[in-house]
Amino acid sequence: MLPEFELLMPRTLPEALEMLAQRAPDVMPIAGGTNVIPDLRGGRYRPACLVNVASLPELRGIRQEDGFLVIGGSVTMAEVLEDPIVAQFAPVLQEAAKMLASPLVRNRATVAGNLANASPAADMAPPLLALDAEVELASRESIRRVPLKDFFVHVRQTVRQPQELVTAIRFPLPPPGSRARFFKVALRKADAIAVVNGTVRVDLTENGRCQAARIALGAVAPTPLRAYEAEHVLESQPLTPKDIAEAARLAGEATRTIDDIRGSAAYRRMVTEVMVRRTLGEIAYGEGEN
Ligand SMILES: Cc1cc2nc3c(=O)[nH]c(=O)nc-3n(C[C@H](O)[C@H](O)[C@H](O)COP(=O)(O)OP(=O)(O)OC[C@H]3O[C@@H](n4cnc5c(N)ncnc54)[C@H](O)[C@@H]3O)c2cc1C
Repeated sequence: MLPEFELLMPRTLPEALEMLAQRAPDVMPIAGGTNVIPDLRGGRYRPACLVNVASLPELRGIRQEDGFLVIGGSVTMAEVLEDPIVAQFAPVLQEAAKMLASPLVRNRATVAGNLANASPAADMAPPLLALDAEVELASRESIRRVPLKDFFVHVRQTVRQPQELVTAIRFPLPPPGSRARFFKVALRKADAIAVVNGTVRVDLTENGRCQAARIALGAVAPTPLRAYEAEHVLESQPLTPKDIAEAARLAGEATRTIDDIRGSAAYRRMVTEVMVRRTLGEIAYGEGEN
């Protein structure tokens, strides 16, 4: 059963920030509610007050701005899937959104909510980590930008303060030679939480040298993470089968998995290595396995 709570419906961002400031810390934003409502029913938390941010005009839309792609704080997965700017510059986000939940949930679920909820298995976290995204947090007093790699603190914990809203997620437009792929292994092909998910991104020069690499993983640690050592193996040289295998091995090493109902720690680690090797192989040679 849903516990009792006060529901506030601000019409503008300043109004929402004022409401949060006045009621913090016993207040929560709600956007699509696809995490909040099940969690309220399950008794995970009992805030006295919810502030609905789904209709704030300032949080809408996806735009290009000064070399960045900016995703508003109320943009849904369905909107990500239909957006031509995302399709052009960051199709990896659409790969991830397509595999998140079901069409019904994707019509409500927001990107900001997915990150703010801070599930280790959040599907938008690995691609946004690989895109070097930052989270814009606004309160009545200030606006700050936090790199996504520093945003997650622990399972369901972020650096966001109760009076702050995620107003946007931004990342630099990737260079022309940038290639990124999302992968997700789950207990079934659709509408399932990841056993392991991740994104591999490689920025290649014209002569095929790897300028920069990003390997971001989910569901293998208390927070989504980047496998920095694995990335370093790939950088500043062409992608060779040997380096790809070594990077995949190091990605497996970077996991800090636990056994749970979806899979054992050992399985998750092994799947991470296989999926990173396979995805890098696809990027480098257009093949499934190497
Ligand atoms: C059936 C089902 C299947 C699902 N499958 C998947 C899946 O495959 N992959 C996956 O990753 N997730 C999945 N989810 C989880 C959920 O749909 C996503 O995490 C979704 O993106 C959450 O967005 P929301 O707008 O619904 O967030 P809400 O439920 O409204 O909020 C989630 C959290 O974010 C906070 N929040 C929301 N908006 C803001 C904001 N602008 N600023 C600050 N804090 C904010 C809330 O206070 C809350 O803590 C599933 C959920 C359901 C019910």
